[in-house]
Amino acid sequence: MDFSLSKEQKDIKKAAAEFARGEFRPEVAQEHEFNHRFPRDLYKRAGELGFIGLDYPEEIGGGGLGVIENILVVEEFCKADSGIGMAIHLGFLPAKIVKVIGTPEQQEKFLGPIVKGDWISAVSFTEPNHGSDLTRMETTLEEREDGLILNGTKIFTTNAAYADFFIVLAQEDHDASPGHGMTTVLVERDPSQWLGGKLEINEIPDKMGIRMTSSGELVFKDLKVPRENILGERGRGLKNVLEFLDESRVEIAAQALGNAEGAFLKALDHARKREQFQKPIISFQAIGHKLARTWSQIQSLKWLTYHAAWLCDQGGGKDSETVPLFTSIVKHHVPETAKQIIDETITVFGGYGYFLEQEVERRYRDNRIAEIYEGTVEVQLNNIVRILRKLTLDFIDSVLL
Ligand SMILES: Cc1cc2nc3c(=O)[nH]c(=O)nc-3n(C[C@H](O)[C@H](O)[C@H](O)COP(=O)(O)OP(=O)(O)OC[C@H]3O[C@@H](n4cnc5c(N)ncnc54)[C@H](O)[C@@H]3O)c2cc1C
Repeated sequence: MDFSLSKEQKDIKKAAAEFARGEFRPEVAQEHEFNHRFPRDLYKRAGELGFIGLDYPEEIGGGGLGVIENILVVEEFCKADSGIGMAIHLGFLPAKIVKVIGTPEQQEKFLGPIVKGDWISAVSFTEPNHGSDLTRMETTLEEREDGLILNGTKIFTTNAAYADFFIVLAQEDHDASPGHGMTTVLVERDPSQWLGGKLEINEIPDKMGIRMTSSGELVFKDLKVPRENILGERGRGLKNVLEFLDESRVEIAAQALGNAEGAFLKALDHARKREQFQKPIISFQAIGHKLARTWSQIQSLKWLTYHAAWLCDQGGGKDSETVPLFTSIVKHHVPETAKQIIDETITVFGGYGYFLEQEVERRYRDNRIAEIYEGTVEVQLNNIVRILRKLTLDFIDSVLL
């Protein structure tokens, strides 16, 4: 067993940390936070420095590496600043589905500009009546002689205001049983790429955290797109989405891990410097124990997240259930525990922790979404229970290693 990162992985992690610590400065973060503005310049810079698309094929400018290298970057970005780190990650994370199931032509067209930090991507699965339950969509896809027609409404699409393309899950076969008959389609923002119809994009304002991202409603009105925009196998849209979610959920866990680490480091620094009753507050057992406990928790989250990413990179070879099991484990456990850790850091800061300036308040708000999007905590627990009910005790015992 070897727990060490390779030299290349260490270099990537160090470079991401140096870039993020140098550029994601508090005044930059606060300006974007107050103005609800996507950190476009930093996104572009991250692309130029090679931090976007580390897991994309080298032929289209990607790094040809894996989920593990991606999460090292996400962790360091979110450690430096939750708002900027999560916004940048959410700009390119949706495009991963094109890497997972796109044709070489689609990868070149859609991933090429993402790698350079020129384009932003978005996924539009959720609808007003279908959130956790994606087994049937009300957004429809209809084939015509000269193209595909989309009708319906999507909500909560992250970065709707900025995205250059959307990956839309739509119902094609209305008679199919739940979970079937859906297709994933690429929709470009640029109207010159449509063959007709309309796409309305309305901002959904005033959210709790990740305020540097936009959240939007998409209304498709007879929007016609070319047939080559079909992504993945037709009629197997949900399967496509689930394949994407396996990797993306591990990356969401890395957001939460970085958020918790960043909050912990700030709280530790504060506890060493802040004096009450003529002593640094870390010397009070109540505060010292909080820091000791949260540090231990962070170590367990870190190795669990790295392990899940490593499993994704093995391609699920050993047993196909292992990857979805571990992605669900990290997707509920890491954000939930990170929330507790960040909450404890607010306690360490006392009244100062309640104000924006110390950042732990913002980290708490930003981190909360990691428990909700890409499948809620409850949905992840359901996934695990489904596996626990189905598999033999021997198998369950063997994955405990
Ligand atoms: C800021 C933000 C960004 C988002 N970004 C995107 C995006 O980019 N693209 C996109 O498609 N979607 C996005 N979403 C949507 C997100 O994925 C959904 O909100 C989430 O999946 C939950 O769906 P819902 O809100 O409809 O809640 P519901 O599904 O109505 O769930 C309500 C509650 O019931 C629980 N629940 C539901 N079903 C079960 C069950 N079977 N067992 C136990 N408990 C259950 C849930 O866990 C939750 O606590 C985003 C949401 C937010 C808030």
